[in-house]
Amino acid sequence: MDKTFEPDVIIAGAGIAGATLALALRQSGLEPVLIDPAPFDSQLAPTFDGRASAIAYAAFRQWRALGVGEALAPHAQPIEQILVTDGRTPGAATPAPLPFHLRFDSAEIADRSEGEPLGYLLENRQIRAALARAVEAAGIPVLAPARVASAVFGKGGTEITLDDGRTLRAPLAVGAEGRGSVLRKAAGIGVVGWDYRQAGVVATVRLDRPHEGVAHEYFLPSGPFAILPLTDNRASLVWTEGSARAAALKSARPEVFHAHLMRRFGAFLGEARVEGPVFSYPLSLQLAERLTAPRLALLGDAAHGVHPIAGQGLNLGLKGVAALAEALTDAARLGEDIGSEVVLERYARWRRFDTAVLSAGMDAFVHLFSNDNPLLRLVRGAGMSVVNRIPPARRMFMQQAGGALGDLPRLLRGEAL
Ligand SMILES: Cc1cc2nc3c(=O)[nH]c(=O)nc-3n(C[C@H](O)[C@H](O)[C@H](O)COP(=O)(O)OP(=O)(O)OC[C@H]3O[C@@H](n4cnc5c(N)ncnc54)[C@H](O)[C@@H]3O)c2cc1C
Repeated sequence: MDKTFEPDVIIAGAGIAGATLALALRQSGLEPVLIDPAPFDSQLAPTFDGRASAIAYAAFRQWRALGVGEALAPHAQPIEQILVTDGRTPGAATPAPLPFHLRFDSAEIADRSEGEPLGYLLENRQIRAALARAVEAAGIPVLAPARVASAVFGKGGTEITLDDGRTLRAPLAVGAEGRGSVLRKAAGIGVVGWDYRQAGVVATVRLDRPHEGVAHEYFLPSGPFAILPLTDNRASLVWTEGSARAAALKSARPEVFHAHLMRRFGAFLGEARVEGPVFSYPLSLQLAERLTAPRLALLGDAAHGVHPIAGQGLNLGLKGVAALAEALTDAARLGEDIGSEVVLERYARWRRFDTAVLSAGMDAFVHLFSNDNPLLRLVRGAGMSVVNRIPPARRMFMQQAGGALGDLPRLLRGEAL
């Protein structure tokens, strides 16, 4: 490493949150460096991340403002409608509408979203590929493979030691290394949360019927089952199951997995061919007790890991990127120390409330919907039909999901920093 190289911000973790932050900081003239044990090339392998993410339209605007919108557009499937159904048995296959049905339609908020869809569905590997190319083109240094091993947070800056013994110093470090954040631990920030004892089984299927941009969410007793439309008439399935059953599904032979899938959802899906490997992700709630510490900001899953029930995890991380990038940019322009407590507190204040409310909301949702208790079924059924009958309530839900409510940072409004 060049001895004279002194970045402004050391970002641990070149995942989607870390790489997006690096691009935002570079756009505003700051000098970030990214560190990751997995080089970009390996992140693009079909076996690395099989997920697709529902990206709120405000979060997608941020990527446009950072110059990656064009690379992502061919892979972005607009979500025109979301249908939520309370399915009691593995009767998601039932073609007839089930009693409690909630429908969100992009046309209803067209005036407020400037005609954008409810959001976009994108495969994570396509997002990673576009970000990797943009990071490279912007000349942002990436130390990979390299792992942050420890950190000392001093008065004037942070000193990071990598697992190969190299050290780096900067006024600020950002922990974007996911749920197992080393920087969070080094700063003594605890986490609260619990294991749902569930896993999300993820597979990509090619459909024989046109999906027409409709996303379906079925609430089954074992947990939600989502059918998320992808480009090229494919869909990403997120099938929540108890941990043991999820492990069995993941390791099942392809024909056995296919048979299970069709037995459960066949009539609804039509003929569906599984493409690529089946993945399984353990599900838990994990919230950092604080978003910042002296000379440290936490971002993305390092700060908040939530259940994917409403596809909000990465969106929360991307909102955090916009808020942190704006706080640091404005501070740098005013000649403030970007790692000082007063600057970091602006970021924490901006994100604290939204993160806590959304995480608690997702958790309540999981308990309410992954349950076959007749009383809870009555409550959720009543709730869904009330929301469905009140257009302003539906519009509020859609705007919240679109990430366009509240005091929005410039990037989420689609503006440059
Ligand atoms: C089944 C499922 C479906 C989901 N669907 C959605 C959805 O539809 N919409 C949505 O918004 N969210 C969704 N999520 C959540 C979303 O996937 C995560 O919130 C998101 O991937 C987190 O990104 P990140 O960049 O914060 O962390 P990560 O993706 O965990 O990246 C962390 C990076 O840090 C690196 N790293 C690890 N240790 C170190 C170290 N010591 N030093 C340096 N680097 C390190 C890792 O290699 C990795 O590249 C889903 C999650 C699951 C499980």
